[in-house]
Amino acid sequence: MIVVMKPFATQAMVDRIRGRVEELGMKPHVIVGVERTVIAATGSESSGIQAELEACEEVEKVMPILAPYKIASRETRREPTVVTTGSLTVGGGHIGVIAGPCSVESEEQILEVAAQVKEAGATALRGGAFKPRTSPYAFQGMKEVGLELLAQAREATGLAVVTEVMTPHHVEMVCRYADVLQIGARNMQNYHLLQAVGETRKPVLLKRGPSATMEEFLLAAEYVLDQGNQQVILCERGIRTFETHTRFTLPLATVPYLREKTHLPIVVDPSHGTGIASLVPAMAAASVAAGADGLIIEVHPNPSKAVSDGSQTLTPAAFEATMHTCRKIAEVLGKTM
Ligand code: PEP
Ligand code: MN
Repeated sequence: MIVVMKPFATQAMVDRIRGRVEELGMKPHVIVGVERTVIAATGSESSGIQAELEACEEVEKVMPILAPYKIASRETRREPTVVTTGSLTVGGGHIGVIAGPCSVESEEQILEVAAQVKEAGATALRGGAFKPRTSPYAFQGMKEVGLELLAQAREATGLAVVTEVMTPHHVEMVCRYADVLQIGARNMQNYHLLQAVGETRKPVLLKRGPSATMEEFLLAAEYVLDQGNQQVILCERGIRTFETHTRFTLPLATVPYLREKTHLPIVVDPSHGTGIASLVPAMAAASVAAGADGLIIEVHPNPSKAVSDGSQTLTPAAFEATMHTCRKIAEVLGKTM
């Protein structure tokens, strides 16, 4: 349920209600809005709790949250959540652009591509140091050395670093280097991993599982939010269907759908969503037109030489042209990019 505080409620009043929610056996999540503060209380409701809280003079009203995802729901927070870290801002009219290679391959590669994507207007650098590969024989990533190289690229360019963490054991290590923790599509329902990144205060980029429904996707985000980490970015990256003309099927109706259901920012990944570099620019533009708060795009100085996902990777020149088109669309929508 949501406990809506009166507009004049002071911090002390909020603290008192929060404490009372806890005493009554529920978990309070304080969400500070522009106009007023609400406390989302999760967990099982004991009888009479609603009436008791409603009787408090600092409380305006108490309402049930109908959606199964509570903190992620629009019912809990009307205003959009804006995630900002270093050079990257996603949401609230700001389109963040995360670009870079699928995998960190070498010092030369990551420094070169970081400078190229920055020049083209990217606001964050992506690059996998721990790679979830379908085959155990495929390149698994440079691991901690790759993270060091990403930090070096941030130093050189000022770009915030987005990189995947695959296991709870690595969360602390990845946090030492990354600005945003990426949860890969294959791990969307790895609940211990979601809770582990939820315990940090680093923004999380949560990718949709290839067979996850919107409800499952939002409930996965809820695992992170429930640990107190409010900085979650949702990422549509395509789903498995009967289709074979693209690597995955990229459903863009999820962007306006999620906008109605949640206050969390929504990013689209047209690279994994299509698997084909020539289709990426149009789908990036379509994502912005659909209202996405950001894009994550694979770019490599020489895609044909990339150790992973080369066929869906843009050249720096193609990325620059894509940025140019997307910016015009963003402008029509009154957004900055
Ligand atoms: C990636 O971003 O390189 C990646 C592995 O993505 P996904 O988890 O969406 O497959
Ligand atoms: Mn990839």
